[in-house]
Parts: sequence; C-alpha cells; structure tokens
Amino acid sequence: MSKGTLTVISGFSGAGKGTLMKRLLERHGNYVLSISATTRSPREGELDGREYFFKTREEFEEMIARDQLLEYACYVGNYYGTPRSWVEEQMAAGRDVLLEIEIQGARNIKKKYPEALLIFVSPPSAQELLRRLTGRGTETPEVIQSRISRAAEEAQGMDDYDYLLINDDLECCVGQLDQLIQSAHRRMSENLEFAGKITEELQKMKGE
Ligand code: ADP
Ligand code: 5GP
Repeated sequence: MSKGTLTVISGFSGAGKGTLMKRLLERHGNYVLSISATTRSPREGELDGREYFFKTREEFEEMIARDQLLEYACYVGNYYGTPRSWVEEQMAAGRDVLLEIEIQGARNIKKKYPEALLIFVSPPSAQELLRRLTGRGTETPEVIQSRISRAAEEAQGMDDYDYLLINDDLECCVGQLDQLIQSAHRRMSENLEFAGKITEELQKMKGE
C-alpha cells in the first residue's frame, strides 16, 4: 500500500494558515488535517473535536505522560500537541496529512520524520500581518501584541523550513502548496514502488 506524506505548515499567527488549509482540503479528498489538543480556551464559534480537542492542563499532561502526542509545545502560555495514533493511521492509509503547528513542533517532527515537508507561510509584510490579525477580530490588543512579539522570534527560525510560501494572492498560494505536496507524494510513491521492484528482483536473483 502506498504511504501518505506528512506536511507541516507553520507561520505567524494571522498569516492565513487556517484559511489556506480550508481551501486545500476542498481541493482533494486525499488531504486530511490533524486536529490538535490544546489547553487554550475555545474562541467564539470553535467546537471541541473540530478546531481542537480542548483539554485541561491535567488532561494534557496525562497525554504527554502516556506518550500519546507525536509532538507538543508551549505557545503564549498554553500547551498545543499532535495526537499520535490518528496521524500514523492516516499516513499508513495513504492519506496526505497536514499539521498546522508552530516552529518548535515543526523541528520535533523533522527529527522524527526526516522525510516530512516543512512549509513556512508568511504574509507579504509585517504591516499586512498586523492588518490581518486586527481584521480577524478574535483577539484582544494585548494578545495581538504578544503574537506580534512571538512572530518576531519565529522569523528567526524560518531557515529551518524546506519552503517559504508568501500568502499574498490566496488562490495562487493554495495552488503552490498543492503542487509541493503532490510532488512529495509522487516522489514517495515512486521510491516505494522502485524499492519493492528491485528488492523482488534481487530476491529472485539470489535464489537462482
Ligand atoms: P492563521 O490561521 O495563520 O492565524 P487566518 O487563516 O485566521 O490565519 O487568517 C487571518 C486573517 O487574514 C483572516 O481574517 C483571513 O480571512 C485573512 N487572510 C488570509 N489569507 C489572506 C490573503 N491571502 N489575503 C488577505 N487576507 C487574508
Ligand atoms: P491558535 O491559538 O492561533 O489556534 O494557535 C497558536 C499556535 O499554535 C499556531 O502557531 C498553531 O500553528 C500552533 N499549533 C496548533 N496546534 C499545534 C500542535 O499540535 N502542536 C504545536 N507544536 N503547535 C500547534
């Protein structure tokens, strides 16, 4: 069975990651988005089990202790983590799994899965980032300020990613993202197919 790819999408809060993911999932049935666990409170309109699995700090620490998370990190005072078993099952079923996670988590994923594709999404400028964060209207000015400070730190880690995507024109950015993942998927399938073929040939040759 062909294996699916693992793609990490990171970027400053307000860069448009959520918007991009939504559009990407509408494009193909083969994409699936991992739902993270978090200790932060739900925003208006968010549902438990849809945007996140909302956990208490104790519940989250229990998940860490039981090794149920593929990776986790602290971000602006809250825990965020990727449930392990769901991601592994989806990849084994050939699905292309998307993780929308921050930079520490991205680095940990790369350590565990060196073949994972790491993509960093940025708006065209800092001014545009502030405009999007303010325009979304979901955070207080204090939280926006802490997210801008965090973005300044995150900008230092952009080099760790395989690709930088500028989310200026949304449709153009979705198309680029789709192409990057599809080419990683093709590469993985072709490699697996070739490895299977030559292993079989060598086994036969050995027996002859
Ligand atoms: P993130 O998930 O990275 O925090 P969101 O997807 O919530 O960001 O996007 C932040 C805001 O920016 C939203 O109001 C969204 O509609 C807007 N947005 C996203 N992409 C674009 C784009 N390409 N051009 C203009 N506005 C955008
Ligand atoms: P938000 O509170 O805006 O939903 O998310 C804050 C940050 O946490 C974003 O950068 C988001 O990508 C990141 N994040 C969400 N889920 C996870 C996760 O499972 N692991 C890690 N490491 N970061 C996550």
